Amino acid sequence: MRPDFLNPLFADVATVKGVGDKLAKLFGKLLRGEGALPARLVDALFHLPASVIDRRFRCTIAQLPVSGVVTLEVSIGKHQPPPRGTRLPYRIDAHDETGHMQLTFFSAYAEHLARNFPEGERRIISGEISWYGSEAQMSHPDYVLRPADEDKLPRIEPIYPLTAGLSSKLVQKVVAAGLAKLPVLAEWQDAAWLQRQGWPGFAAALSALHQPSQVIPLGEPQPARKRLAYDELLANQLALTLVRAQMKRAAGRVLSGTGALRHKLIGALPYSLTSAQAGALAEIVADMAMPTRMIRLLQGDVGSGKTVVALLALATAVEAGAQGAFMVPTEILARQHFATLGKLCAGSGLRLALLTGREKGKARDEVLEALAAGEVDVLVGTHALFQGDVAFHDLGLVVIDEQHRFGVHQRLALQAKGKEAVDLLVMTATPIPRTLALTVYGDMDVSKLTEKPAGRLPIDTRVMPMERLEDVVHGLHRGFETGARAYWVCPLVEESEQVDLAAAEDRFAALQAVFPGKVGLIHGRMKAQDKDKVMAGFQSGALSMLVATTVIEVGVDVPEASIMVIENAERFGLAQLHQLRGRVGRGSAKSSCLLLYQAPLGETAKARLSIMRESEDGFRIAEEDLRLRGAGEMLGTQQAGLPLFKMADVVVDGDLLAAARDDALLVLARDAGLTSPRGQALRSLLYLFERDEAIRLLASG
Ligand code: ADP
Ligand code: MG
Repeated sequence: MRPDFLNPLFADVATVKGVGDKLAKLFGKLLRGEGALPARLVDALFHLPASVIDRRFRCTIAQLPVSGVVTLEVSIGKHQPPPRGTRLPYRIDAHDETGHMQLTFFSAYAEHLARNFPEGERRIISGEISWYGSEAQMSHPDYVLRPADEDKLPRIEPIYPLTAGLSSKLVQKVVAAGLAKLPVLAEWQDAAWLQRQGWPGFAAALSALHQPSQVIPLGEPQPARKRLAYDELLANQLALTLVRAQMKRAAGRVLSGTGALRHKLIGALPYSLTSAQAGALAEIVADMAMPTRMIRLLQGDVGSGKTVVALLALATAVEAGAQGAFMVPTEILARQHFATLGKLCAGSGLRLALLTGREKGKARDEVLEALAAGEVDVLVGTHALFQGDVAFHDLGLVVIDEQHRFGVHQRLALQAKGKEAVDLLVMTATPIPRTLALTVYGDMDVSKLTEKPAGRLPIDTRVMPMERLEDVVHGLHRGFETGARAYWVCPLVEESEQVDLAAAEDRFAALQAVFPGKVGLIHGRMKAQDKDKVMAGFQSGALSMLVATTVIEVGVDVPEASIMVIENAERFGLAQLHQLRGRVGRGSAKSSCLLLYQAPLGETAKARLSIMRESEDGFRIAEEDLRLRGAGEMLGTQQAGLPLFKMADVVVDGDLLAAARDDALLVLARDAGLTSPRGQALRSLLYLFERDEAIRLLASG
């Protein structure tokens, strides 16, 4: 339970005077993402300004600069409403002892202006100056105040990232309410460390950023920002360390098989394991045989062959008399895995079952019965696996594919289904750079598949402008003569799937005219059977080319396909391009990937495409992706649209992350229950960053 003294910070923003339901909703969107969770004061406090406007410059009209923001006191003169039916601005004359200027307003309410700018009175105005010939203007002043209210003018005004319908002033108001509710909190950071860094306290850092009294020039150290970033990173690392410690504390079980089933499966594989796969498997099997609990991450690029390693680990659990669960994030993937594993297990005696949201009624009941009776060895499925009524006979190993898509809660829930502490193997196809891995996994044990199955040739990647489309089509002619098969991926247009589809259909028609009868079209809106038919045609070679939108995650495996054309490649993210390119280069033929772009290319797009040309190394590509895009997007965090961290930036603050990790380990090694004075203060930190569940995991006593 969160201590009472922190509760005021978790009050809904709707409790602030002047914030009604409608605005509260917008704050929810701005501060808590699309999930429409209500925004609280603390969320506003952690929403840092993107920049500031310095309003300290005061002058007379004669001294007005060429541009920039100024504050000045003027007498209000005549109002000149625009002639009816014109788009001219409403003008108000203003003057002081040194000269005249104009205040201009577009589509303004005359009444409103009459009230705010009464003729003959003095007002302090602040805003951006522009010039119309020799006349100075201020268009829509940001502030208009009576001279007596001058202290209401923010001298340095924070400017916040916004969402449509909210203004920076509104955010300032809510933030001010939050700052007013901030209790005095004991310092949770190490005093010596703070001093060495030259960082302020927590409250001081928040006010320095939200109510700045000085402007820090670009490129100079920002102690307040760093301080808060470090707070956030430390909360993250403490929570991960606690979760991990708790998992390890639960005694594991020895899952040690005879190897019989595993060897049978390996013997029946249509290929031999790569040494990376064999190595990873050996690490996993050894870990499972230990009396402590396994918490291991299997990391490997697209196509490195993680699935079969998972299967063999599951087989080991089955040999040891236990059951396994294989959880994947989507229904499509679940079905695909179920089919793939089914083929690999045929004749081995290993009993598989499938459970997703689509299994209902009797079919579902049957699976659940068999599972409880121990008649299912491995259950494959989506998060439907950890619904309340799913009971295993004896769950020993959980494998989670694409693990970053699941939340901590879901992971813990599935493990709670084991009688004893179940072993855990999580896999990720998104190669996650080391800095980021730390924030998501803490320090798990890691096995890596660093090598791809043998015989895969490098993919020849070329970047070319759309103008060379004809050359590309010529190239395809030659390719098809020798029996090659090609994918053609159509641009992703963010605004609407409809437009995506139209583009794909146009391209399909154009290519169909060049290669009659040889081209198929596949997209997300098609019926499952129609899709299957087109896919089958491409798989058998009846079709030479598959035009596709990315709406379908092209989760297909056609080794004969050796050409990938990506149209408007500049619109795709690096990870996506990498995934798409991974669809070719699977067979024995030399493959190529053509990235077609629409000129002119922006800097980031240019950088992305040249990385693609230079590298096929998923880790390198991921590092670059992180650098170009930032962390949140890359991980596809739970709350859509929200970054992983509110205040820290894993790219810029990478060094802080490593420090936070060491700090967390040290603190918990000395004070596992967080009972010391610093430990108590750190509990507040965890509550502030909503790591409540981590606090529940604290060692009792
Ligand atoms: P990912 O790591 O992306 O999940 P998959 O497990 O789907 O990769 O494997 C990709 C492809 O590689 C599959 O078609 C699989 O059959 C094949 N594969 C896996 N291991 C090997 C191997 N040792 N030799 C040859 N092909 C392999
Ligand atoms: Mg996979």
